[in-house]
Amino acid sequence: MPKLERIQIELTSRCNERCIHCYIPKNDGNQDMDSGLLWSILDQCWGMGLEQIVFSGGEPMLHPDFWKIIEHEIWNNCKVRVFSNLTLLDDNLADELKKWNVHEVQASLYSVIPAIHDAVTKLPGSCEKTKRGIEMLAGKGVPVFVSCPITKINKGSYPDVLSFARQLKLRSVPGDLIMAQSNRNSGNLEYRLNIVEAMQVIQDVLDNDTAYDAERFSPEYHNPDTIPRCVQNVCESMICINAKGEVVPSPEWHYVLGDLNKQTLKDIWGKSSRLKRVQSISLEDFPKCQSCHNIVFCGMGLGLNANENKVGDPFVIPTHICELAEATRKLVHSHRSKQKETA
Ligand code: SF4
Ligand code: SF4
Repeated sequence: MPKLERIQIELTSRCNERCIHCYIPKNDGNQDMDSGLLWSILDQCWGMGLEQIVFSGGEPMLHPDFWKIIEHEIWNNCKVRVFSNLTLLDDNLADELKKWNVHEVQASLYSVIPAIHDAVTKLPGSCEKTKRGIEMLAGKGVPVFVSCPITKINKGSYPDVLSFARQLKLRSVPGDLIMAQSNRNSGNLEYRLNIVEAMQVIQDVLDNDTAYDAERFSPEYHNPDTIPRCVQNVCESMICINAKGEVVPSPEWHYVLGDLNKQTLKDIWGKSSRLKRVQSISLEDFPKCQSCHNIVFCGMGLGLNANENKVGDPFVIPTHICELAEATRKLVHSHRSKQKETA
């Protein structure tokens, strides 16, 4: 049995923001994880010797036990990451994150211009609060990773976000592809960049962000053995737990592998037939991908696939994904050729 190394726990599906691209459906069913269940899960995690745990939401700081969790003694041997919009952070809470040696906080900044950022989050004042939260944590020496998911509304904003992060000596990258909601409502995809717009962002990265270029498009990354992330180590060492206590393969993919209200984490990890099936998924399950020359530029994912079709089939690949990978390959190769000519 492979070792479970990382877990992401959705402390709550509630959020004080209403981001236009969010994969979490906003409805009356949004809830905090039950505190009794949460502490039982944390005790089980402790017993399993986890290496890393991520607390996410919704907005995790809305959970009434958030600060007690951060102080939990389990974290002596485990890296803790927190995904938060930081709008609820104050000086005392930032001190706590520093004191408890949180490994990294990840926050999304859509633009440094309030009118643009707030148009994405639908929460007036959120830009200033998120920027202030990032600055506060950076000032206290808490590592912050600044993500910048790109939508039609903030598509020109990434360079300024990158500069903001660099001034604070923080890392920033453009966010992943927007995916449909986990209830398979794809209304949020109207904000996803079309191919032309996506190529403008990638061109900007190639021209101005050497660090991300090296990370995402470097020659090493173009190893012919590279396979799409969807079939790389799915559930091999990491699983997610949603606010209801259901175990799922990834935060956006509502494919229930087990229920912690009825089963133990150890039992689900060791015995779930659904988990074993997901772990067995390989390139063999995607005949079209096996000889694809765009494979190293492909951002396909099982949850992304499943959320974009009416029956939730993770093996049905959205056309957009293949078109995007093709356009990215052409653009990167053309850019590399020009670099060689001018060298
Ligand atoms: S802050 Fe995160 S969880 Fe909240 S609405 Fe935005 S994307 Fe969704
Ligand atoms: S671009 Fe399409 S065919 Fe190629 S690897 Fe990605 S999903 Fe498969």
